[in-house]
Amino acid sequence: MHYISTRGNTPKMQFSDVLLMGLAPDGGLMLPEVYPVIDRATLDHWRTLSYTELAFAIISLFATDIPADDLRALIDKTYTKATFNSDEITPVSKIYDDLYLLELSNGPTLAFKDMAMQFLGNAFEYVLAKKGERLTIIGATSGDTGSAAEYALRGKANIEVFMMSPHGKMSEFQRAQMYSLDDKNIHNIAIEGMFDDCQDIVKALQEDKAFKQKYSLGTVNSINWGRILAQIVYYFKGYFAATSSNDEKVSVCVPSGNFGNVCAAHIARMMGLPLNRLIVATNENDVLNEFFATGNYAPRTSANTYVTSSPSMDISKASNFERFIFTLLERDGEKVSELFNQVKAGAGFDLSDKLADIHEKYGFVAGKSTHADRLATIKKVHDETKRLIDPHTADGVKVARDVQQAGEIIVVAETALPIKFKDTITEAVGEMDLPRPAHTVGIEDKPQFVTVLDNDAKLVADLIAKHVRAA
Ligand SMILES: *Cc1c(COP(=O)(O)O)cnc(C)c1O
Repeated sequence: MHYISTRGNTPKMQFSDVLLMGLAPDGGLMLPEVYPVIDRATLDHWRTLSYTELAFAIISLFATDIPADDLRALIDKTYTKATFNSDEITPVSKIYDDLYLLELSNGPTLAFKDMAMQFLGNAFEYVLAKKGERLTIIGATSGDTGSAAEYALRGKANIEVFMMSPHGKMSEFQRAQMYSLDDKNIHNIAIEGMFDDCQDIVKALQEDKAFKQKYSLGTVNSINWGRILAQIVYYFKGYFAATSSNDEKVSVCVPSGNFGNVCAAHIARMMGLPLNRLIVATNENDVLNEFFATGNYAPRTSANTYVTSSPSMDISKASNFERFIFTLLERDGEKVSELFNQVKAGAGFDLSDKLADIHEKYGFVAGKSTHADRLATIKKVHDETKRLIDPHTADGVKVARDVQQAGEIIVVAETALPIKFKDTITEAVGEMDLPRPAHTVGIEDKPQFVTVLDNDAKLVADLIAKHVRAA
């Protein structure tokens, strides 16, 4: 399997090279030159597999330059009961007769990002050892991504992690999760500023070509192909768990921000998984909802992005969206370049002539949920089923209910556990003891390791230079 760029101007590459990449050199996103299509016999066989067997069957179609035994070992080491709390890894629970949850948040940091990041951590370590290289991961986080990356990369050979977060802006639980790690290769940096300031520092360091090369800087952001790939697996697993034969169809609803998670569902559907509709749930930041309703894509600046109570979806320029547009435009890299250069220049684009394909051929629909919807949904689901769902998952449930058709079964992706967003849960249902997995009991009382720095990229660069041997 070779990889190409959505902009059509990057030489073909192998999986191991793409794995360590951010953007392609031509500014596009890397993806496989074809999405393999699964026949019925294979699908029937896959239904019988365990999570790790299924992950191997799927990932081995894409990671063809990793020897099978090595890949199997990587996968077996990643998806364990010890890390994900059950043999099913991503269990499906029926909360209503026609609405199920695909539980993606039982990993170390209680959000779905662990599903991909844990795989990425092991795959990075493996590929770096093979190539004899080192990597310095720098990142900015307002919560979920940074902690998932740190828990995936802690203690890994040849990898140092410098994670910036806005000082005093994360929840107590999120701070405790990240700052209590005492691994030598994990460096928490609290910046006196906002999330955007942290992101600007990452950008400034990345753009300093000499510095970037000297310290082998890399990122683990959501455009990474390895993350999307690992996420494809649980749509197959979830479909098998939600149905009793491959003659059935279900729809999935995915709380979306950067379009990574639902992009994986889209690829699973392209591979022949019998998914009916792909329902994109947005919060008040509803650029994608607008696109799927009208065909008009009008991304907004960060100044025009609302801070909401489903913060991991506060995104107005979805970085993985380009992967779907590439497919929608029948893989016309030149046209994709043209459209996304318009986006870069602050405009958008109009694909309303493709609306029929978007809905019928690719199965996409979308909906929007607001703070009031979120609270009402958390309360309603708790009152009716005794189950607490987190604010992002609540956006998914709300939108699923809005668009659901007669007889349609919808599987909603549970993207985080409620304990991570205690304030919003309390606002919805009042004070109550929230369930918390054993490994997170008492983390707020552990010593914390974090360096507080002024909002200045130079200070972060100095810290990196102090800890990382130059190449
Ligand atoms: C990251 C995240 C999302 C959004 O996922 P995308 O892949 O960016 O669309 C939704 N919910 C939670 C809890 C998240 O952490």
